[in-house]
Amino acid sequence: MDYRRLGKSGLKVSEFSFGSWVTFGKQVDGGDAVSLMGAAYEAGINFFDNAEGYGQGASETLMGEALQTLGFTRDSFIVSSKVFWGGSKPTQRGLSFKHVVDGCHQALKRLQVEYLDLYFCHRPDVDTPVEETVRAMHTLVMQGKILYWGTSEWTAQQLTEAYAAARAHNLTPPTMEQPEYNLFNRNKVEGEFLPLYELMGLGTTIWSPLASGILTGKYNDGIPADSRMNLPGYEWLKDSLESDGGQDKLRKARELTTLAGEIGMSVTHLSLLWCLANPHVSTVILGASRLSQLQENLKALDHKAKLTPEVLERIEAIVGNKPEGLKRY
Ligand code: NDP
Repeated sequence: MDYRRLGKSGLKVSEFSFGSWVTFGKQVDGGDAVSLMGAAYEAGINFFDNAEGYGQGASETLMGEALQTLGFTRDSFIVSSKVFWGGSKPTQRGLSFKHVVDGCHQALKRLQVEYLDLYFCHRPDVDTPVEETVRAMHTLVMQGKILYWGTSEWTAQQLTEAYAAARAHNLTPPTMEQPEYNLFNRNKVEGEFLPLYELMGLGTTIWSPLASGILTGKYNDGIPADSRMNLPGYEWLKDSLESDGGQDKLRKARELTTLAGEIGMSVTHLSLLWCLANPHVSTVILGASRLSQLQENLKALDHKAKLTPEVLERIEAIVGNKPEGLKRY
């Protein structure tokens, strides 16, 4: 496992990290959480990603219990939460000063830690002035309750406004953004955000590197019964796979599967390594509903040397979605 700086901060994050969206509390129970996080840590993963919105807090509770059982020393791992979807009442959602602070206190309790290493605004909140959110995050940093703060799925414009507000008022600026990034979705990371890596020293903790499993090839011949796309509450994922856009992704996934076979690795490995090949990616957050998946995904690191410039060109020819007029990085 290699470690990368989180943007221009001094924090060293493992190139693969581990997250709990969908899985913890739904497909993964307490015992599984301990084996998954134990195996991840053993392999060198030092960052565990979470959010108040995952399972309405259940995911944080499960991760907190697993951290207690595993007993990793607090200075050897990084844990995050994200604030935005804390409940149904008006004060329980969004990025008001109040909810940012309440969300942090609740995450600390559920995760059973004294501070969060990373705290994300899970989405932008058009009802809250950005300066109010920046001030709330800065206050939590000053109180030692969070160390770094960032955003998820914000636009470059929104990030620039947050950065400017922080600089204007001598507050702590955002350090990282958590965007979706995979072979099907690359415009923000490779296009829109390009100026911000230099301007703000922005780091990225990227999500859904396997496009919810499509890039493992598991959906090439239909939807497996025990997969995310068959879970109650995730019909929207299945619908998106069955749409024209989803069918186009499947066609590409099949072609990528053939290419990966030719160069002696799985399409899962090829897809994960493709994300890692972008130096603006600080860490690729892995998701897994069982231990065998995590073990398989970690093996991608053994194949790094196979992602040659020629292979990258062949991948481009299949996906055909390089952001126009911009270099990849
Ligand atoms: P992926 O795109 O990698 O999807 C992971 C899922 O794909 C697994 O749960 C499993 O689903 C399937 N899978 C993974 N590996 C394999 C394998 N080797 N073989 C077969 N199936 C496999 O990542 P996620 O979508 O889970 O995202 C990763 C993390 O990113 C999340 O846990 C979360 O922390 C973060 N995230 C953040 C978001 C944000 O808005 N900030 C949004 C989404 C995620 P199954 O077994 O059910 O088929």
